[in-house]
Amino acid sequence: MRGGNRVFAGLGTTIFSTMSSLAVTHGAINLGQGFPDDEGPEELRKRAAQAILDGPNQYPPAMGMPVLRQAVADHDNRFYDLGVDWEREVLVTSGATEALADCFLALLNPGDEVVLIEPFYDSYLPMVEVTGAKAVTVALEAPNWRLDPEALTRAFSDKTKLIVLNTPMNPTGKVFSEEELKRIAELALQHDAYVLLDEVYEHLVYAGSQHRTMMALPGMRDHCIRICSAGKSFSLTGWKIGYVTAAPTLLALVTKAHQFVTFTTPPALQIATAWGLGQDRTYFDDLARDLEVKRDILSKGLADVGFQVVPSQGTYFVTTDISGFGYQGSDLDFCKEITEKAGVSAIPVSAFFKPRETGEAVPQNMVRFCFSKQPAVLEESIARLKHYFS
Ligand code: PMP
Ligand code: GLN
Repeated sequence: MRGGNRVFAGLGTTIFSTMSSLAVTHGAINLGQGFPDDEGPEELRKRAAQAILDGPNQYPPAMGMPVLRQAVADHDNRFYDLGVDWEREVLVTSGATEALADCFLALLNPGDEVVLIEPFYDSYLPMVEVTGAKAVTVALEAPNWRLDPEALTRAFSDKTKLIVLNTPMNPTGKVFSEEELKRIAELALQHDAYVLLDEVYEHLVYAGSQHRTMMALPGMRDHCIRICSAGKSFSLTGWKIGYVTAAPTLLALVTKAHQFVTFTTPPALQIATAWGLGQDRTYFDDLARDLEVKRDILSKGLADVGFQVVPSQGTYFVTTDISGFGYQGSDLDFCKEITEKAGVSAIPVSAFFKPRETGEAVPQNMVRFCFSKQPAVLEESIARLKHYFS
């Protein structure tokens, strides 16, 4: 055995698979991996099923089916006034995960630096590192996930090629403010860096917060690549339909990688997603309102159990500080313990940090819970946790 790739061979199984399988083993309610516990909108599923019967079922164009590319452009123009040209500025991918990989592979060279804001989604780091680029991290300040502008400035250098901005943000539930977007944009322009916008939770934003895309800020249209996902906007996480919007020359670069990563994406799901994107604002508002109720049930319940709950402004997730329990182990140990003994699973936030070169431990006091579940399931989770901690 010659061994594998220097980045992937050294990695374990993702925290999402690990905690989901532990939840199954112990019959725990899975508030770990982020997915809704229903089948998703029936109309989209019907349309996808019909499209499989009617066809086409052979390879769609590599850029995506025109009907979906047009729907993405219309959606972006309607919600953000971005003036997107569907023929030259939209690419369909097999999920946002593929889109992220395409962007890193297409844009980075060994020696480049990429700024990642911690805690960050788990696929970013290995995909940056496999290109030979270096991830430079800037940690948000727990427990309120504040971005320190000085720390952000220090993360940039003359080698910075790219910064990833995930807003609304997994795992923190933070929605970046206009002021924060402006500061990041200013630094990106100063360093001539691209901004990779992971906006998969664009429609999962709750009262009092508003999603703004940096792509709409003055001077940023040609520096940003915007990635979204049908998985989140239509509560169909297994579909793996992603879409990328960027200026033509930038999108052409990303497409070079895409054509060799997956080349294309199942046509029936593209057709159904195109229909979904054409829904009016009420559909997206209802989606957010439904999740907001669930967020409130879980956040209040967790606070009653004794978790210090950090208010979630968006996404499927709420983060909590577990320091108050006086627990001696790591956040991973804590999540395993509540899975096995309380029957509720969660995700340790330390999994979203880059391991420190000094060997120093990353913060171990934060735990993420997913609230995209039926209210009764959330109530039952709270009852189990209350019982365990009382
Ligand atoms: N980015 C973030 C921040 C995510 O949370 C996820 C996962 N849900 C993805 C990207 C991947 O999305 P997809 O399932 O469309 O690949
Ligand atoms: N985005 C999902 C989460 O954060 C997980 C996706 C995955 O399992 N790779 O929970």
